Amino acid sequence: MYDVVIVGAGPAGTTAGYLLGRSGFSVLVLDRKKFPRKKACAGGITPKAMAIYPFDISSFVRRICREVKIVRPGRASFTVRANTPLCYITKRMDLDGYSLGKAVQAGCRFRNIDKIIRLDQDDHGVSLTLSCAGKTDIVRSAYLIGADGANSKIRRLIGGQKSSIIKLPALEADVPVKNAGAYPMTFDFSREINGYYWIFPRKNHVNIGIFSARPTGTMNRDLLRMYAGEQLGTDVLTGVKGYPIAISSGRAHPGTGRVLLAGDAAGLAEPLLGEGIYSALKSGILSARAIEYAAGQQAPGPSDALCRYKHSLGGMNLDLRLYRFCASILYRFPKLSLAVGSCNVFHNFFSKGYAGGKTLHEILTPF
Ligand SMILES: Cc1cc2nc3c(=O)[nH]c(=O)nc-3n(C[C@H](O)[C@H](O)[C@H](O)COP(=O)(O)OP(=O)(O)OC[C@H]3O[C@@H](n4cnc5c(N)ncnc54)[C@H](O)[C@@H]3O)c2cc1C
Repeated sequence: MYDVVIVGAGPAGTTAGYLLGRSGFSVLVLDRKKFPRKKACAGGITPKAMAIYPFDISSFVRRICREVKIVRPGRASFTVRANTPLCYITKRMDLDGYSLGKAVQAGCRFRNIDKIIRLDQDDHGVSLTLSCAGKTDIVRSAYLIGADGANSKIRRLIGGQKSSIIKLPALEADVPVKNAGAYPMTFDFSREINGYYWIFPRKNHVNIGIFSARPTGTMNRDLLRMYAGEQLGTDVLTGVKGYPIAISSGRAHPGTGRVLLAGDAAGLAEPLLGEGIYSALKSGILSARAIEYAAGQQAPGPSDALCRYKHSLGGMNLDLRLYRFCASILYRFPKLSLAVGSCNVFHNFFSKGYAGGKTLHEILTPF
């Protein structure tokens, strides 16, 4: 019997595992992929995400961006600048492999599995039935953290609040270029796709991609290839990869009973630009703290950790509401919103807040 089983070794799962392992809990981390594994993600780490990474990841930063180019429909583009970094560009394959290593160093056990079959809970713990190398096995733990991403099997097995989770499509590719540093970090809203194209410079290539703020948004390799041809003068794409980003239309799904959901599994990514690493890290931290709190009670009840976790997600739910509001304005009225955004006073205010590692709520309520 483990104290905690964590399903998913992305940023949410490894952060929770690292913290719980370090606190002396017996933790089993499960993932269906062998690490290091490829992950569809541009690897943009905002200052607020960087500030809460539980360990130093500076050696994985491929480029630091202090300016961001915003391309508008039918108008000149503008550039947002800050004295301190606005984004750190990483590669998730390296970063997630390292993070899993840190969780293992902290005392977690890691196991590759093929499939999760069933989940049962009672007053004392959770039983997870899984298949691994053709054999069926049951692992039992006092708590389980579902950190298995946007298509979370754990979320489906525990049910509830299904309708509040919405999956937004995103597609990315790497493009080898001679001088990646010559391309500024770019968000291109000029294409009338209810979303944007991005260009993120790394070391010797740039990462490009498409994000749709609508679940029905369509995107494909040809669109990316055309964009690369136009913007970078080459249509050679490598590692084209798509995956959904899970947001929620209401509150994030915290889990049920002894099962807590974290990161995209809980629908915690933000719907404006699709940033999900910050909320994966934050909810990984909060879920670990909630379990530590419950375990520290004299006679812990079956839902003590969940109650604590739900309560601590309050600030994130508030932030997500603000992001939803901003997304509804930006993608409904892109010309008008970006005209306002192009005013120096406006974007200086936001870039200062972002560069300072603040959340949207903290930026909007400075006093
Ligand atoms: C194309 C693209 C670009 C993006 N760019 C950015 C960006 O620049 N910055 C940013 O902040 N966010 C970005 N995001 C969002 C970000 O990638 C996610 O929000 C973030 O990875 C969520 O972290 P997580 O730990 O919740 O889940 P994930 O990182 O998705 O990790 C889930 C893990 O669970 C494992 N898993 C899944 N199902 C099972 C199962 N049944 N059994 C066992 N294991 C399982 C997976 O193998 C994976 O390792 C992007 C997303 C996409 C698709």
